[in-house]
Amino acid sequence: MGQMENPVRYSVITEKNPREIVMLRGSGCRFLRCRFCDYHLDSSRDQAANDRINKEALSHVTGQYHSLEVINSGSFLELSEETMARIERVCLEKHITQLRFEIHWMYREHVKKWREHFAEKGITVKIKMGVETFDDAFRREVFDKGMEGVTPQDAAKVADEVCLLFGVTGQTVQSMRYDIETGLRYFERICINIMVENTSQIQPDPQVIKMFVDNFYEIYKDDPRVDILLENTDFGVGGKRDE
Ligand code: SF4
Repeated sequence: MGQMENPVRYSVITEKNPREIVMLRGSGCRFLRCRFCDYHLDSSRDQAANDRINKEALSHVTGQYHSLEVINSGSFLELSEETMARIERVCLEKHITQLRFEIHWMYREHVKKWREHFAEKGITVKIKMGVETFDDAFRREVFDKGMEGVTPQDAAKVADEVCLLFGVTGQTVQSMRYDIETGLRYFERICINIMVENTSQIQPDPQVIKMFVDNFYEIYKDDPRVDILLENTDFGVGGKRDE
């Protein structure tokens, strides 16, 4: 996604698992190694500035679907205490009962306490984890995802949903089928991200993207358990704001 000037930070997803979504800013991804990613550039060590931005984004939340997705450049554990408290306040004020966060595997030990924390307030936390693929060698050697040896069953003990990344040289119809089917077997929902050009060292492979579109898009585009982001701004956040 890269560094953005004044990006759109609030949007509403009206189809498939309708929810509001905010893209907040945290202190920055602590992992930083994933070779396909430049999304972590949307971060700052200036927590006061982050909190101001996050307050503004959260001020748009209406609670219309009682469901809110919070994304940030990394994991939700990298959001400040103040921003976490504000998220909680907004959820309570707007009667939000389902709250979705993203995390990297390295934070797995922290998930339980946050689930319990929000559950006490009547809010169910859903955890989304970027596994990118279930092919362990590809995940290690191509993506450098930092999840060596993690099985779908391991990930399913922490996450409710997974993100997959397609459109990279080396992926095949067979590998994508395996990833989709494995994701749907072990998780409530999957989110398929198609690789887009960014400043990272991995570039999209048009042939692999075509393979995905030709073989899977029609089958899964209306599946309520599958989100497909052909562009990484398809959820309505992250693009440049029209001014
Ligand atoms: S994909 Fe997520 S965990 Fe990996 S470097 Fe990017 S922000 Fe960090």
